[in-house]
Amino acid sequence: MSISADAIDALLPQTQCTRCGFDACRPYAEALAADATALNRCPPGGDATIAALATLLQKPAMPLDADCGIDEPVARVARVVEADCIGCTKCIQACPVDAIVGAANLMHTVIEAQCTGCELCIPPCPVDCIVMEDAPALPLPRTRSDEFRRLYVARGQRLQRWADEDAQKRQRLRPTAGTFDPVAAALARARQR
Ligand code: SF4
Ligand code: SF4
Ligand code: SF4
Repeated sequence: MSISADAIDALLPQTQCTRCGFDACRPYAEALAADATALNRCPPGGDATIAALATLLQKPAMPLDADCGIDEPVARVARVVEADCIGCTKCIQACPVDAIVGAANLMHTVIEAQCTGCELCIPPCPVDCIVMEDAPALPLPRTRSDEFRRLYVARGQRLQRWADEDAQKRQRLRPTAGTFDPVAAALARARQR
């Protein structure tokens, strides 16, 4: 019986942390649908997700693969040590769910309720000013998967829109046949010299 990646993805926590060894939750779901990976590779999902996947895929449950990480007992969120932040924006670019706000050369801050705890913002920070902290007041990430998926999809759509707009702008700026192109003219003059 083949199970759709959509059905599998619906069971995953959507932290987009990559600890399963895939670029995000969706590629892991697709690999599971293709029977190309094991069902015990998602630490944020823990035993609950393994059990749900085992039922859906009609396979035996197994312990979480320790090589992927551990199932944290409480939610964890990133916090920017604001006094040290140099406003480089690298963390914003790395965050898969747009949970960081800030602008170039200004202090950045994490929107706690939106943070999946994926830790992907930590390696790019050039001054090591992002720390992870327990957030016992927040529900575990796997119980907030719908919201995290919505944020992740919205970010992907925004990045695609920006790429399309850039491509259109480049297209508009490209000289058309018959119009004077100062760069091409300068190159031609240089070649003649
Ligand atoms: S939440 Fe689980 S499935 Fe999603 S990226 Fe992290 S480890 Fe992979
Ligand atoms: S702020 Fe950091 S830890 Fe939180 S979701 Fe974004 S990248 Fe992940
Ligand atoms: S990567 Fe670090 S220094 Fe750069 S904006 Fe983010 S928190 Fe600040």
